[in-house]
Amino acid sequence: MNSAYDILVIGGGTGGIMTAAQLLRANKNLKVAIIEPSETHFYQPAWTLVGAGTYKYENTSRPMKDYIPKGATWIKDKAVKLNPENNSVSTANNGDISYNYLVLSPGLVYDYSLVEGLEETMNKNEVCSVYTDPKYVYKVLQNFKGGTALFTQPTTPIKCGGAPQKIMYLSESYFRKHGKRNNTEVVFATPGTVIFGVPEIKKTLLEVVDRKDINLRFGYMLKKIDSKNKIAWYAMAEHEDEYNHKDLNIEKDGDLVGIHYDMLHLAPPSVAPDFVRNSTLVNAEKWLDVDHHTLQHNKFDNIYGVGDVAGLPTAKTGAAIRKQVPIIVAQILANIEHKASHFKPYNGYSSCPLVTDYGKMVLAEFDYDNNFTPDPNLKKMLIADSSKEHWRLWMLKKYMLPYLYWNKMLKGKQV
Ligand SMILES: Cc1cc2nc3c(=O)[nH]c(=O)nc-3n(C[C@H](O)[C@H](O)[C@H](O)COP(=O)(O)OP(=O)(O)OC[C@H]3O[C@@H](n4cnc5c(N)ncnc54)[C@H](O)[C@@H]3O)c2cc1C
Repeated sequence: MNSAYDILVIGGGTGGIMTAAQLLRANKNLKVAIIEPSETHFYQPAWTLVGAGTYKYENTSRPMKDYIPKGATWIKDKAVKLNPENNSVSTANNGDISYNYLVLSPGLVYDYSLVEGLEETMNKNEVCSVYTDPKYVYKVLQNFKGGTALFTQPTTPIKCGGAPQKIMYLSESYFRKHGKRNNTEVVFATPGTVIFGVPEIKKTLLEVVDRKDINLRFGYMLKKIDSKNKIAWYAMAEHEDEYNHKDLNIEKDGDLVGIHYDMLHLAPPSVAPDFVRNSTLVNAEKWLDVDHHTLQHNKFDNIYGVGDVAGLPTAKTGAAIRKQVPIIVAQILANIEHKASHFKPYNGYSSCPLVTDYGKMVLAEFDYDNNFTPDPNLKKMLIADSSKEHWRLWMLKKYMLPYLYWNKMLKGKQV
């Protein structure tokens, strides 16, 4: 296949499907193609709930074919090389495909090699992750007999920065409900300096941490997992700090500090896919180099980036994508139709639904400057202050957001 497309989209995940759907909804005559190898589309935000046993994994996926927008061509293949000078993308099985505009939304990939010992033990031996196998997380919680439940995250950017905390708060409740809490220490070891960057949210989360008696450890940079002896080894950052101290079983090896665990939950180290990393389109950190306000590539005007692959200093979430896609669509349509484009520049909006308990949630919405920017529509749901735990926010997360995702967002409708 060597045909030219008005717009070629790489990736049929959240960003790719939403972009193609909105473009075609605005102009059904556009020639749009999506390169996507997978038969299945996943709603990843529900995996945290799957890990805590309160959502069915089967309900987090649907056939890709049902969500490729009508009028778009599905190229069931993998992009393997970007050729921006020739306006083409090389694929594994369909040769080079040319485009007028390229939208990159291939997400991110997990690089286990960045933590020694991780590859061998991921998703086994009580080392679990809602990012990779949420069903195994729930098994680990069920089989846990007490001891140290260690929750951690890598030094790389990750999807939905709050997810490692959400599963921790739910796990703590699970232990409490099932009589395992008295002989358990719940520990959160993070390379960061704070529990959350937005002051209003930080305040609430520290109250949650106090209520749940969780030990927070800051400045912990995960280097190695010794799964035989169940020790997570960390290099310490200068800002090492602790909140709500607990005496844990700690080891030292030179500069490394080891925490003994009985179960370990982690977000895996994450990087851009190889074909992006190996291209000329990346920034110094090897994420797609796009303008922070227009999402247009910084060197190639006809290339845009959306979602997890984009090198943007904000949280990588579907909620961010919801705000990013209309900005890209407005620019591409204006260019094609030779009109001036009108859009509000992207302000870094992202959102993290921080589940703090079964039936409770805080909704962190924020911009590049960590300003708390709650959606005014929440008032209509009788939620006066979304920086506080609320049952209605839990209902939003468990029922409303999945519905809006499958039925509105992926269909290119405004929500
Ligand atoms: C555990 C967890 C909890 C989360 N919680 C939330 C939440 O509560 N709220 C929220 O808003 N977000 C949440 N997210 C994040 C959200 O799911 C992602 O930010 C979003 O799905 C990213 O969309 P994307 O289009 O960038 O990538 P994805 O949706 O991951 O899609 C990428 C697509 O690209 C395809 N692809 C990859 N490589 C290639 C290639 N070489 N060629 C062609 N196609 C390719 C893949 O097959 C995939 O279909 C969570 C994520 C996880 C894992």
